[in-house]
Amino acid sequence: MNKRKLIVANWKMNLNTSQASMLLHRLHERIRIHRDIEVVLAPSMLTLQPLSVQIDRRKFRLAAQNAHHKDEGAYTGEVSFTMLQDLVHYAIIGHSERRIYFEESLETVRDKVAASIRNDITPLLCIGETDIEHREGQTRQVLHDQIVSGLADVSSTDVKEMVIAYEPVWAISTFGGKLAKPSDIKPIFDFIRNQVKDLYGPKAAKEIRVLYGGSVDDQTARGYLEIEGCDGVLVGGASLNYVKFSGIVSSAYRMLNEKDDQSEK
Ligand code: PEP
Repeated sequence: MNKRKLIVANWKMNLNTSQASMLLHRLHERIRIHRDIEVVLAPSMLTLQPLSVQIDRRKFRLAAQNAHHKDEGAYTGEVSFTMLQDLVHYAIIGHSERRIYFEESLETVRDKVAASIRNDITPLLCIGETDIEHREGQTRQVLHDQIVSGLADVSSTDVKEMVIAYEPVWAISTFGGKLAKPSDIKPIFDFIRNQVKDLYGPKAAKEIRVLYGGSVDDQTARGYLEIEGCDGVLVGGASLNYVKFSGIVSSAYRMLNEKDDQSEK
């Protein structure tokens, strides 16, 4: 069962090819390999191919930030999961910026999750409530709808490999970036796993990886990583800064090493 801590960098629509290559170089210098940590970089579509040649695959994996749900056809300007198959291991799907700015519906997200799996790319499904939904007490209903629809076409075998990232929209830097307390996130993680349990049973609920995202940086990462049932973090803004992002990976590194030391005592 793959339960390594997953640290994902979402570079969004930032960095041209040479800037991305420089950032990768800096991260390569600072990040050490740890058997229980997986570092995933999601650069722009344009940069995926050159980075795939440069990357040290023992240290990093690549993710797409988006793709079209059809495998091929007359969809001018789009790139399909089929085209990305040889380049990426993961795909971020249903990010709040896509749901809000590009009006991606629950059905579109569902179809992208299915297309990703069909093309052997692990979906990293983002879910999260907006500020208003949060204040009006609708968090659980919104997450329920996003999980049930996002997983509608996913088999019980495939769901265990998937990743769900809980990213409250109000905590993402783009939309206000209020810091969430780890103690407030823990019950939501339990709720997410319970939803998966209701749909697929206890084994899938245990095995699916659940991440946190929302203004995570090198100062706050450990608080989230220590939440029971947290399998990692999805990082936006801070992932563009090699000191901060490598600091987040170091936090995971230190936490795991301390746990190893304690279990040896
Ligand atoms: C994100 O966009 O997924 C994200 C978590 O962004 P930030 O870390 O900048 O809040």
